[in-house]
Amino acid sequence: MPYSYEAPVSQTLFDRASLVTPGGVNSPVRAFRAVGGTHRFMVSGTGPYLTDADGREYVDLVCSWGPMILGHAHPEVTAAVQAAVARGTSFGTPGEGEVALAEEIVARIEPVEQVRLVSSGTEATMSAIRLARGFTGRAKVVKFAGCYHGHVDALLAAAGSGVATFGLPDTPGVTGAQAGDTIVLPYNDLEAVHEAFHRHPGEIACVITEASPGNMGVVPPLPGFNQGLKDACEKNGALFISDEVMTGFRTSRAGWYGVDGVKPDLMTFGKVMGGGFPAAAFGGRADVMGHLAPRSEEHV
Ligand SMILES: *Cc1c(COP(=O)(O)O)cnc(C)c1O
Repeated sequence: MPYSYEAPVSQTLFDRASLVTPGGVNSPVRAFRAVGGTHRFMVSGTGPYLTDADGREYVDLVCSWGPMILGHAHPEVTAAVQAAVARGTSFGTPGEGEVALAEEIVARIEPVEQVRLVSSGTEATMSAIRLARGFTGRAKVVKFAGCYHGHVDALLAAAGSGVATFGLPDTPGVTGAQAGDTIVLPYNDLEAVHEAFHRHPGEIACVITEASPGNMGVVPPLPGFNQGLKDACEKNGALFISDEVMTGFRTSRAGWYGVDGVKPDLMTFGKVMGGGFPAAAFGGRADVMGHLAPRSEEHV
């Protein structure tokens, strides 16, 4: 049979989806604009393969954008999930599984002395930034153009010096105040970081970076860049936040930290950590994490 790009069942599903969901998708990265053709709706996955609604089989190079490093429906994972679901899914109280997971993270990643579990990478970076602001009593956040940290208001101010200088949000719906507290700098440019600290003395709460960026293509940090960020933060009383949502538990057992050994004050995790389930975390120095409610009166 000659190969056909037609996908009638997927097309019907997409038509239905478009009526009830903006653009027919629940995340912009699922849109097909970049590649063209019919959005493919998947019905199942096994190991490295996916099957779509038209019965076509694919080798999965997307891996759910990272998390499915063990492949789809691994029998051991499926058995563990089924057993857990059968015991009940949410209690509104602590459970032993959370303790075991936190212990595993703390054991693997030395800079993480304490960790708080959340549901998405976005929640992790949002919480880490709020914590850094609460801890330092400062408002401004430094991020790098091309680094993605989830759909956090303060971090969507993605690029352009007008954003930093005039407080112009480049995403509608993000307020000028939020964008004005975000300083966007060119990646791998330590000079720009030093200059920002010089220009905003005592105002910068934190510098957040992808540990090794993968959201603008793969652009690893130049030798000494992450260490330079850490040093600049330490010198200026700001916190260094390494976003390991993409690299964590993947580039090594201890993520990118296990590769370059630069010790962040706070770190964020997601994606592979949940293996396709909504599990994420932020953690780091115990004296900083101690400012989170309910430990602190400050209720950050
Ligand atoms: C995907 C990603 C996020 C956001 O995680 P979500 O779970 O999608 O909210 C944050 N930071 C980095 C580096 C990411 O790649």
